[in-house]
Amino acid sequence: MASIKDLTERIVNFRDKREWKKYHTPKNLALSLVVEVGELLELLQWMTDEEILKKCVEESYREKLEEELADVAIYLFLLSHELNIDLERAIAKKIRKNEEKYPVDKVKGIYKKYTEL
Ligand SMILES: [Mg+2]
Repeated sequence: MASIKDLTERIVNFRDKREWKKYHTPKNLALSLVVEVGELLELLQWMTDEEILKKCVEESYREKLEEELADVAIYLFLLSHELNIDLERAIAKKIRKNEEKYPVDKVKGIYKKYTEL
């Protein structure tokens, strides 16, 4: 499987060959990310979680979900790239922070925020 770094390189290459960098300001990319999250949510709208999971086995629905998830990831990777943020490192750092904030013995099966523990 390709790393986030490899995928970002492909996306940036795709973008730069088309001379679209001029549109990819941090604010425009953040807005585009939210637009794509909206498109993803539209696929889930009005259905229960049970209905969503059931529908997920339908090939055409699954394909649409995959496309919107990919769109979200693409804008996330582009935004991180433009802000010069190493997303792999940032995610690893955040996971470590969450592991410290939410020790298994204190939160197992409990959804409380760390400030309420
Ligand atoms: Mg989309």
